[in-house]
Amino acid sequence: MALPSFADCRSALLSKRASCVEIAQLALETIQEKNPSLNAFTHVDASSVGQSAEAIDQALREGNELPLMGLVLGVKDVLSTTEWPVTCSSKILEGYRPPFEATSVARLRRAGALLIGRTNCDEFAMGATTEYSAYGPTLNPHNLEYVSGGSSGGSAAAVAAGMCHAALGTDTGGSIRQPASFCGVLGLKPTYGLVSRYGLVAFASSFDCVGTFANSVEVVSRILSHMAGTDPSDATCMDCSYPHVEFSADRAIHGLRVGLPKEYYGDGLDGEVRKLVDQTACMLESEGARLVPVSLPHTEYGVATYYILAAAEASSNLSRYDGVKYGLRRAGEAHSLEDMYTSTRSDGFGFEVKRRVMLGTYVLSAGYYDAYYGKAQRVRNLIRKDFDEAWEKVDVLLTPVNPRAGMRVGQQDKDPLQMYLSDAYTVTANLAGIPGISVPVGRTVQGLPVGVQLLGAPFREAELLTISRKIMNLIEHSSS
Ligand code: GLN
Repeated sequence: MALPSFADCRSALLSKRASCVEIAQLALETIQEKNPSLNAFTHVDASSVGQSAEAIDQALREGNELPLMGLVLGVKDVLSTTEWPVTCSSKILEGYRPPFEATSVARLRRAGALLIGRTNCDEFAMGATTEYSAYGPTLNPHNLEYVSGGSSGGSAAAVAAGMCHAALGTDTGGSIRQPASFCGVLGLKPTYGLVSRYGLVAFASSFDCVGTFANSVEVVSRILSHMAGTDPSDATCMDCSYPHVEFSADRAIHGLRVGLPKEYYGDGLDGEVRKLVDQTACMLESEGARLVPVSLPHTEYGVATYYILAAAEASSNLSRYDGVKYGLRRAGEAHSLEDMYTSTRSDGFGFEVKRRVMLGTYVLSAGYYDAYYGKAQRVRNLIRKDFDEAWEKVDVLLTPVNPRAGMRVGQQDKDPLQMYLSDAYTVTANLAGIPGISVPVGRTVQGLPVGVQLLGAPFREAELLTISRKIMNLIEHSSS
């Protein structure tokens, strides 16, 4: 069983062939059937979903039609909502209920979306497999021996398995694009500052972005148009909007300059993934796009720079979980306040989060600040400049998303460095603050989905979505 598309649900709702309560029921039944094997949702409260659906039906009866009515939306467990607890898939936030709602979520709710449940992720969004979640991993709907990717793996799997039309995720270093690629759905990370971070539990504040998973560019675009825009509660949110565009399937891409950065096609890239990216490039070329070889020379420092800066910001952001203000408190054996802090944090955080807090504290310490943190900030600027120079020669960049097509459950445990390196193609967009999207383009011989990444200049989301639509359309036609 799978939920019919958003377009079908919406037209059924508006023509009174179905009520929102019935649509909610279908989604809940699908979740009930599929979630036990996938573990994509970690909290679904049927009675509160029913009430929200009833409120939407009531609004419709009163003639208040809203643009996202009919949309069933999953929400990553790092975005605050008032109707369910938010835990960041961490023990340390056990039982914490936010007193406010994230701006992104509140705006979608106001536009008529039905929030269906909270999706699984790596603890505090640190990871690339969901295996660092306190609830256990989310498995890949295409092959249960593989993970869904991370950190927003629950959101990606929920959309891929048809349990909701779209889901919100967050992307600090690739956490939307990577699971989207693994699960064969679209995943958009917008320009930094286009969507408010208010109510998003902070991991690395200068990198974190709220974005969307869905099966169609129309849905991604509509959701972005409602979420984007200035917010007095987030000073880093830009004073700009994203207007939804109508996508035409036969939009010409003649003359489009598609950059192929050589640093993204080197050693370590799996042959099958490479083949699918190459095929996409050729397909665009045969439609009249121009393929332009480019170089982003500082790419090789991306992973090191990202892991220094993101860990530094995380160590500072996570200092608030001390057993006093939120969730878990371990005071039983404690003889002093410091003892209580120590036992709460030792018990509440998983080992990957601890590793990052230690790394971040180290690079920010007086003796090492210049050597690591200061240096990494300067390299971040160089990476940003690489992209600025590229936009003088090309309109978009086409790259792989992940060096491999999938990761087996349990494969990562032994070697965290290997997992960090798998972020090589995605962290650069977050270092530069530019938008990126993962577009499903095919499958490996084994049947695992593969996505390609399109990167664009700041605020060029509409262009990325237009090209994504073209790619998906060409693939659909070539296979039919
Ligand atoms: N995999 C990266 C990390 O572990 C990215 C995470 C993210 O984007 N939230 O830091």
